[in-house]
Amino acid sequence: MLPNQASVLVAGGGAAGFMAAIVAAEAGVANVHLLEATPEPLNKVLISGGGRCNVTHACWDPRELVGHYPRGLKALRGPFSRFAPGDAVAWFEAHGLELVAEADGRLFPRTNRSESVAALLRNAAQAAGVTLHTGVALQQVSRGSDGQFVCGLRLSAPQPPGRRQLRCRRLVLATGGHPSGRQLAASLGHVVVPPVPSLFTLALAANPLPELAGVVMDPVDLELQIDGLPTGVDSVRHRQSGTVLITHWGLSGPAVLRLSAFAARDLKAAGYRGLLRVNWAAGRRPAEVEDLLGSMRLEQARRQRGTWRPWPELSRRLWLHLLAVQGIDPQGRWADLSRTQLRGLVQALTNSTYSVGGRGPFGEEFVTAGGVDLGDINLASMESRICPGLQVVGELLDVDGVTGGFNFQHCWTSGWLAGQALARIT
Ligand SMILES: Cc1cc2nc3c(=O)[nH]c(=O)nc-3n(C[C@H](O)[C@H](O)[C@H](O)COP(=O)(O)OP(=O)(O)OC[C@H]3O[C@@H](n4cnc5c(N)ncnc54)[C@H](O)[C@@H]3O)c2cc1C
Repeated sequence: MLPNQASVLVAGGGAAGFMAAIVAAEAGVANVHLLEATPEPLNKVLISGGGRCNVTHACWDPRELVGHYPRGLKALRGPFSRFAPGDAVAWFEAHGLELVAEADGRLFPRTNRSESVAALLRNAAQAAGVTLHTGVALQQVSRGSDGQFVCGLRLSAPQPPGRRQLRCRRLVLATGGHPSGRQLAASLGHVVVPPVPSLFTLALAANPLPELAGVVMDPVDLELQIDGLPTGVDSVRHRQSGTVLITHWGLSGPAVLRLSAFAARDLKAAGYRGLLRVNWAAGRRPAEVEDLLGSMRLEQARRQRGTWRPWPELSRRLWLHLLAVQGIDPQGRWADLSRTQLRGLVQALTNSTYSVGGRGPFGEEFVTAGGVDLGDINLASMESRICPGLQVVGELLDVDGVTGGFNFQHCWTSGWLAGQALARIT
């Protein structure tokens, strides 16, 4: 049953809202109510990480950790030094869920099922005395004459449809990337940075690589040049290195998602157009590649160029494609490679250029860049500087991380800080 009065109201039953509510209630705050607009809480946790939930990342040093947040960066050093990935691992373990690191540092539940994470959060909330109300959306907030928040609620299934009012002393906004939270925060006087998508793949104009779909190369150096930005800056460049997956529409993989995150605002401003320079040569500079191809001419002189690749990790399909782009017969012998052809191959291997023609489908993870400006928030308690008594946590803030568990980590950290602060003041 929805009460008329709550001590703490948390709006948004996602990772950040659950964390804030559980931490507050476990620390002794009574009468904590958690509202979820949809019939099921924790939907994103359930679909996250391809159904496995990448809970956090084995990056233990807050100074290094902040480098994974295109929006947030240094401002997050304080929050992460109070509750870092190591604290999240310990917190989940203390609540009965062991996390296991993969070779690339991503941490997943040992069960490999996101349902385990969602179940843990639901059970911990219940055990701590948090009351969860599904089908209840926070629609409006104002401040009563007694300083309390007056919350206008819209009820839908599984609740009987209707509208209600609820008063509370403390309010936590944890509505994620949903527009309603940004509208509520703006209505209370906060600066809201306009949202743009982050963590997407890149579609190449007239995709020149369709026959290579499925090829994975690692590491690949990417440099994205974006021109004609309305900001007056002529041209900006974003660089990333790492694994790239060639798809039916263009490029994907961790390095591309990371690139999209750091370039999210510039790409949006430029209509998702840019020039992408790709070094397929695993970090080798042009002079090194030239030497390598030169020694192939001498040492593999009688071998066929298409069969004998300059280095074994270079995908055979990609190599044949680069030979074709340069008009070089793969069946010819290495000895017959002309100087001009050699230079063309060096260029293709170390500096292939592609036009980005748009945004491709999202990767496994997708977040919104933008949200409540961090300048409006005290990052020690997540309390608003504009509206005392209100806390803002999770994706609703203008913070987003790259793929790899960093987005949930920010939810755990901001939720934990909000819950702790509630316990100190309530
Ligand atoms: C497909 C996918 C996979 C992902 N995988 C990962 C991953 O493996 N690791 C990782 O770190 N990140 C991942 N992310 C990102 C991660 O899911 C988000 O960063 C995270 O869920 C944000 O949590 P949150 O609690 O701030 O918001 P949300 O999870 O969006 O939760 C907000 C909740 O509030 C509710 N709500 C909205 N408005 C109202 C309102 N007015 N009143 C009441 N309730 C409201 C919503 O229904 C929602 O349940 C993934 C994202 C996607 C889309």
